Amino acid sequence: MLTAHGIRHCKVCGGATNYVVPADDNRERATCTVCGTVHYENPLNVVGTVPVWGDRVLLCKRNIEPRFGKWTLPAGFMELGETTEQGAARETDEEAGAEYEMEGLFAVMSVVRVGQVHLFYRARLLSERFDPGHETIEARLFTEEEIPWEEIAFRTVREALQRYFEDRRRGSFDRVHTVDIA
Ligand SMILES: [Zn+2]
Repeated sequence: MLTAHGIRHCKVCGGATNYVVPADDNRERATCTVCGTVHYENPLNVVGTVPVWGDRVLLCKRNIEPRFGKWTLPAGFMELGETTEQGAARETDEEAGAEYEMEGLFAVMSVVRVGQVHLFYRARLLSERFDPGHETIEARLFTEEEIPWEEIAFRTVREALQRYFEDRRRGSFDRVHTVDIA
């Protein structure tokens, strides 16, 4: 189980930290030995989209590590000052340069091992023209048959795509998928 990320120095005073259980708490926290500041570590949010054009889904070939050259949905870490939906839209702009309309929340995935929560929204593409940023080698549309399943960058992306095509066969996107990845 992921417990902590290993904070060794206080973010306030630079002093050394120890992992101790604070009073009224139930788990060890990085606590400054000098000023006493407790540094809490919590999961990070990753936000992205499943962009769709007809029966095809947009994937981006990664121009960055990790998983350089593998295919992904547009997604990335949420920034301060934005909503989850705004973050998902921003990532779609940055990584694909696509024109689209945001649709509903599609999936919430807990990735426990790395301490992340991934949220994917559906997005309806308004054109087939893409202008990917520096993080993307190529942005391309794939039918279900064309999806390069062995070349997908992340398990969360594979899980999202599988569920998207299942819903599509079912003919309904009326539910939000909750997926727990150990
Ligand atoms: Zn300190």
